[in-house]
Amino acid sequence: ASSADEKDLVIIGGGVAGYVAAIKAGQEGLKVTCIEKRGVLGGTCLNVGCIPSKSLLNNSHMYHAIKHDTKQRGIVGVEGVSFDLAKMMKAKDTSVTSLTNGIEFLFKKNGVEYLKGAGSFVNEHEIKVDLNDGGETSVSGKNIIIATGSEATPFPGLEIDEQRVITSTGALSLEKVPESMVVIGGGIIGLEMGSVWSRLGSKVTVVEFLNQIGGPGMDAEISKASLKTLKKQGIDFKLGTKVLGGDPSGDKIKLQVDAAKGGKEETIEADVVLVAIGRRPYTAGLGLENIGMELDERSRVIIDQEYRTKVPHIRCIGDVTFGPMLAHKAEEEAVAAVEYISKGYGHVNYGVIPSVMYTYPEVAWVGQNEAELKASDTAYRIGTFPFSANSRAKTNLDTEGMVKIIACPETDRLLGVHIIGPNAGEMIAEAALALEYGASSEDIARTCHAHPTLSEAFKEAAMATYSKAIHF
Ligand code: FAD
Ligand code: NAD
Repeated sequence: ASSADEKDLVIIGGGVAGYVAAIKAGQEGLKVTCIEKRGVLGGTCLNVGCIPSKSLLNNSHMYHAIKHDTKQRGIVGVEGVSFDLAKMMKAKDTSVTSLTNGIEFLFKKNGVEYLKGAGSFVNEHEIKVDLNDGGETSVSGKNIIIATGSEATPFPGLEIDEQRVITSTGALSLEKVPESMVVIGGGIIGLEMGSVWSRLGSKVTVVEFLNQIGGPGMDAEISKASLKTLKKQGIDFKLGTKVLGGDPSGDKIKLQVDAAKGGKEETIEADVVLVAIGRRPYTAGLGLENIGMELDERSRVIIDQEYRTKVPHIRCIGDVTFGPMLAHKAEEEAVAAVEYISKGYGHVNYGVIPSVMYTYPEVAWVGQNEAELKASDTAYRIGTFPFSANSRAKTNLDTEGMVKIIACPETDRLLGVHIIGPNAGEMIAEAALALEYGASSEDIARTCHAHPTLSEAFKEAAMATYSKAIHF
């Protein structure tokens, strides 16, 4: 049943998926309400994810570089450099609040109604909101978008207190540098947050179940190169090793680990343990049972290609449903889902979602990796170019890493691009554009790139794919 004050669209969750959908809906002239219970907009990404982690990564990298990498550059007088952790945290908090306040401003500018509280389904159109300031209200929508995001997957038997046994959230606000830290899981969170605390002086050990770091999607050759540089920076790795259980009761936390391939069991100790074994969709308290909505075996809300759940006017986007748990993927889905509502069509190219790991050097990729191509029996050829042969990397004394391009041997069309190196996260945008436009490696190689730039390594890797690089 619809009523006069029924909204065109109600969005539950004000993370990247939810807030972008709200702004887009406002721009499309829809009457829209966004419900967020956190008290601030921006979700995981802005509050306890992408943004605060990149602030700590940037500032810990600057400190580390000043401490270890000035002599060869002719910079003197910085001996005894140290840091003020509380101020570093404050700088992080300032970046976060300036961005979250910015979203509130954008809501006003685009006529979005913002309800601070927890939303739950009463029925297929009506949502009850338990307001953060007390009391409750309800709102009904012709269309509804579920954008409730994800949470850290807990490790069985190790209770999270965010002080000693922490998730990424605790790792973003420790008050002192732990003497030692064990990271369970060598995926992106483990390596980014492990890098931060290692640079600031913690003895970090990463325990990873697989024989490869970087989580799903990272090309094996690039992952190996990343492992080598992270080891050189002082991080210890135990690969092919499973954490069996833990005991946080003593002064040090004890973890039992077991070499996955039948090696010996041992106990390792740490002051702080970071649990980084993945994230899982979050739907607690949403009242999905009231609308008979079931989840799949990985607790994801099931949707079709237009983001519709089994109730057609209720759509779902972002971390709480299928696909990589990435902010820019959530943002693309938000725009497309609203366009389906307002125009009847929308589009996201899931073959071209870049990934970036913001360690030093950065690792970035888009498209398919070698293992994926082998698994699907797809023929391919490869062109690579090392940053050690790139003029700008040389002038910057920053020559670690390479660009690797994978293309179709028959048509030369790009299949994937994998980069480890300085500024890889920015450079991958060019690769995404090329892939999106169906470029061949020759198209890239014949596009003039400014000299001296790191991007010339991308151009030369493209040359090497169908012909030969000039400088290597
Ligand atoms: P979320 O951001 O989780 O937002 C969901 C929101 O819904 C939350 O604010 C929650 O409070 C709210 N909510 C839930 N239930 C209700 C309810 N019933 N009522 C009202 N509100 C509700 N991705 C990248 O692309 N790049 C990165 O560099 C990156 N770094 C990361 C670093 C860390 C440490 C972490 C943890 C994640 C990182 N991510 C990164 C992943 C990124 O944060 C997520 O992919 C993104 O936040 C997903 O957006 P979302 O809107 O789907 O979910
Ligand atoms: P992940 O899936 O990337 O990595 C988890 C790792 O833990 C895997 O390598 C897995 O093999 C390992 N693991 C699982 N159980 C284990 C066990 N018992 N013992 C040892 N190792 C174990 O997950 P994550 O790093 O927690 O990140 C979660 C999500 O957040 C990801 O989807 C990621 O894309 C997103 N994220 C993205 C960025 C970014 O884009 N820069 C940054 C942070 C987080």
